[in-house]
Amino acid sequence: MSDVLQTRGLKRNFEQGGVTIHVLRGVDLTVGNGEIVALLGPSGSGKSTLLQAVGLLEGGFEGSIRIKGEEAAHLDNDGRTRLRRDALGFVYQFHHLLPDFNAVENVILPQLIHGSETSAARDRAESLLTALGLGARLTHRPSKLSGGEQQRVAVARALANRPSLVLADEPTGNLDEATADVVFQEFLKLVRHEGSAALVATHNERIAAKMDRVVRLHDGVLE
Ligand code: ADP
Ligand code: MG
Repeated sequence: MSDVLQTRGLKRNFEQGGVTIHVLRGVDLTVGNGEIVALLGPSGSGKSTLLQAVGLLEGGFEGSIRIKGEEAAHLDNDGRTRLRRDALGFVYQFHHLLPDFNAVENVILPQLIHGSETSAARDRAESLLTALGLGARLTHRPSKLSGGEQQRVAVARALANRPSLVLADEPTGNLDEATADVVFQEFLKLVRHEGSAALVATHNERIAAKMDRVVRLHDGVLE
């Protein structure tokens, strides 16, 4: 079976005040099925830019991005949306939960958009949230949850549609150190249990060391 992710010669420039900034200068990255990879690099090194490109959130890149063997570079908007929904899950530094929906509803919603039946989506949401220790918080709205709990809901939401690849951008960057360690440990355990692969941007060496492999972004390429 092909790797879940393969980028070749991935480039991304930004124009700023008439100057071209070469953020990604030819990134070659492979993530195997079920593999959990840490993407390390200092602030401004292009980690988020790389995740946005791989997440098919915007065009504007050069080079090849294969997701589950499918070349994404030439897809139109609809094709990118389909591949993103079928294959990818996202966790960000800030949870981006819907404030008017409770925890379980936030995890049900993406499944309904994906075409799941309501009862199956509810079962799946409750089981993911319970696995993350939120069994007693299912009907709490985000504003009634702690930062660590909010991030756990975001993790459950990212995994809801059984993505082959989870893209996480500083997923614990907004939490204090102790909470970050616990939430990240739970994230890893659940992602492994689900069998998903993950690409996790972080500048935290300690968290990075817990993953299967570490890659470093430096001067627009992987070292
Ligand atoms: P990191 O996530 O590693 O901190 P980023 O990917 O956010 O790095 O940013 C890498 C570089 O790209 C930075 O110099 C940043 O200013 C620049 N950059 C990112 N997004 C844009 C944008 N939309 N327009 C212009 N420059 C950008
Ligand atoms: Mg970033």
